[in-house]
Amino acid sequence: MRSAAAEPIRWIEIAVPSHPEAVEAVSEILSRVGYNGIAVDVPLDAAQPHVVKAYVVYDHAARIKVRRVKEAIGRLQAFGLGPVGDVALRRIADEDWLESWKAQFTPIGIGPFFVRPSWSSARAMGIEIVLDPGMAFGTGLHPTTRQCLEALGEIDARGRSVLDLGTGSGILAIGAAKRGATRVVAVDVDPLSVRAATENARLNNVAVEVREGSAADVGGTFDVVLANLVADVLVAIAADLAARLALGGTLVCAGIVAEKAQQVGDALASFGLTVTGRDDREDWVRLAFTAPAAR
Ligand code: SAM
Repeated sequence: MRSAAAEPIRWIEIAVPSHPEAVEAVSEILSRVGYNGIAVDVPLDAAQPHVVKAYVVYDHAARIKVRRVKEAIGRLQAFGLGPVGDVALRRIADEDWLESWKAQFTPIGIGPFFVRPSWSSARAMGIEIVLDPGMAFGTGLHPTTRQCLEALGEIDARGRSVLDLGTGSGILAIGAAKRGATRVVAVDVDPLSVRAATENARLNNVAVEVREGSAADVGGTFDVVLANLVADVLVAIAADLAARLALGGTLVCAGIVAEKAQQVGDALASFGLTVTGRDDREDWVRLAFTAPAAR
């Protein structure tokens, strides 16, 4: 805790306007330097860019962190990974930081769910998911998370096993557990996400087996697999995704930019899955697949 005589901590907000296609890559860069992860402002007007933000303590190391971010964003622009705007910097005081951080997360109803930040006392209007966005991806604000929660709302999860691949905050795994799934396994390659998902499962009083890793690190098969990842990762791990599906099981894939939907569909079809549903939202595509009833 700070002493009364101490100077208030000052922060630098690093903000990068990004096309939806570049949000994941920009988030990854900012999460390398950001205190408590990153935040993504999703615009109400689809014509406006997303804005990915990170906060770094304004100390002697801040200049190096900002330089590293600018270099990495520059390399991203060279890759042509969707339009990425200029890096904007803003100095802010401790109290303002906390407020701007918390202001990103407001209670929100999605399908049958009501996602509530842990500090909000809003009354639940639906199946409540309480989150302390510690900070992993998955507050319910991003369209891809909403697409997955809505899909989960339409699946009868009662008595079924669910794998949440790339769990982030644990939001989908918690939703599955609250919809009556008997076994829920959540994995993520990011240790911070593993920690956040574990803590959030505890906050919600649900049993979720949270592990570090990916589809290849989980044994067995599941009735439902949820995978909100980027298209290139979905294609790269298509064989492992298909292998995790039980006979007749359902796979929900999200985080797919529209122009790569065909590629993801083809990759999973080559492992015997059939596309059974598609949802398009703000350039993002969610695909649903069914595994064969017999092999
Ligand atoms: N499931 C949450 C949601 O729907 O909001 C978070 C989704 S977030 C877009 C993707 C997550 O997948 C990140 O937490 C990232 O660390 C994780 N991830 C990326 N590649 C992965 C992989 N190959 N295997 C497992 N997790 C991965």
